[in-house]
Amino acid sequence: EEENTLDCSGLLHKLPKEIYEILDIAGRVGDDLNIKTYVVGGFVRDLILETENWDIDLMVEGDGIAFAEVLNTYFEGQLKLYHKFGTALITLENGQSIDIVTARREYYEYPAALPKIEKSSIWSDLFRRDFTINCMAIQLNKREEGKLIDYFGGLADIKNRKIRVLYNLSFIEDPTRIFRAIRFAARFNYGIEEETQNFIQQAITQGMIAKLSTDRIRDELLYIIREKSLLNSLLIMEDLGILKGIHPDLGIDDGFAESYSKIEDTLSQFKGVLREPNPVLLTIMLMLSNFPKEKLDEVIGLFSINKAWANIIYISLSNRNEVYTKLREDNLDKYQLYKILHALPEESIIYYYTDCKNPYIRHYLMFFSVKLRDIKTFITGEDLLKLGIKPGPSYTYILQEVLKAKVEGNIYTIEDELKLAKDFYESLKGE
Ligand code: ATP
Repeated sequence: EEENTLDCSGLLHKLPKEIYEILDIAGRVGDDLNIKTYVVGGFVRDLILETENWDIDLMVEGDGIAFAEVLNTYFEGQLKLYHKFGTALITLENGQSIDIVTARREYYEYPAALPKIEKSSIWSDLFRRDFTINCMAIQLNKREEGKLIDYFGGLADIKNRKIRVLYNLSFIEDPTRIFRAIRFAARFNYGIEEETQNFIQQAITQGMIAKLSTDRIRDELLYIIREKSLLNSLLIMEDLGILKGIHPDLGIDDGFAESYSKIEDTLSQFKGVLREPNPVLLTIMLMLSNFPKEKLDEVIGLFSINKAWANIIYISLSNRNEVYTKLREDNLDKYQLYKILHALPEESIIYYYTDCKNPYIRHYLMFFSVKLRDIKTFITGEDLLKLGIKPGPSYTYILQEVLKAKVEGNIYTIEDELKLAKDFYESLKGE
């Protein structure tokens, strides 16, 4: 049944000692209990890629619960048993976790009068997984240690850099796999294999994305956002109809990659001026820049790691035209400029600078960022108290007046500020 074979014992021995030791003991316990024992899934994929991944998933052809109990006598970790599913979780003192699942033998019905075929339990278990690169196993029993089990061509797909499903109905059975395909393609910079792309499109045509709850879609999108190259992921999602599948108004046009490169230009122009505008947030804003304003609420959450992100996106997009209008006014003074822009997040500045064609407005955005954005008064309410000024609403006016003078460049030192505060207070009292 196996198409590819690779002896992975060399790779196993390259693992950090603590990780190899776990696999070594698992193999010995398997031998003792006469149970075939494997490490499976993402661990195997990343071992072959020689990428760090210490999430150990073990699969045993036998009583997984008994196996886990014996295995844990070696580690004395925290053991959780899930009898109903035949799965277990061992958590070691250092936080390392070991998942154990029981593989079950199953019968598969083949069409057209072929008899039911009994598949080995490991085959059945691997067949339930998502992509070929994720459904390899490495045997750990000592006599077979390092033997790669690759029924579906995962090794070849790693070599060809392809994300491929195992069968045509995979995305219908579980539409979250549509997003997982994008996630792994982005992470490894792999392509999605042609037929797999067709299966994705068929699933979308059948409305499968709409069958997922909003929470599931958001979770999957956030995984994609956390991977590298969101730009590429969005381009692929547009291409396959995934963005439209999420929301009919969602989508990017042909100029998107070019617009993104303009954002990158702006980011480099503002380097050292702003602290750390987030390129991922900017990518999302760019995608949503033509989204109907009144429907923004329906999608912002799907692309936001947290509330702060959602806010930044919302503020930037919804204030855009108002800010442009205000910045178009003639003879703005520094304090007016400051008031228009100081409450905006860094990402808004970058986004407006890139988006707006008007050179005066762009100049204002740059001037504000270089000269005004960081201005704050030295003095606070406490200093006013020390000056003997009675606490109250006047504090706001006084501090504002000091800030204004500072932004306009009329005062510089803390002494200047204190003096102005005092003078201004006297003038207030006089009124
Ligand atoms: P990551 O590094 O992101 O954790 P992973 O491959 O370990 O990658 P998980 O989401 O932790 O990904 O899933 C573990 C394994 O379970 C995968 O390798 C895959 O084989 C399988 N799996 C997870 N989700 C699905 C799914 N929706 N359909 C089929 N198999 C899945």
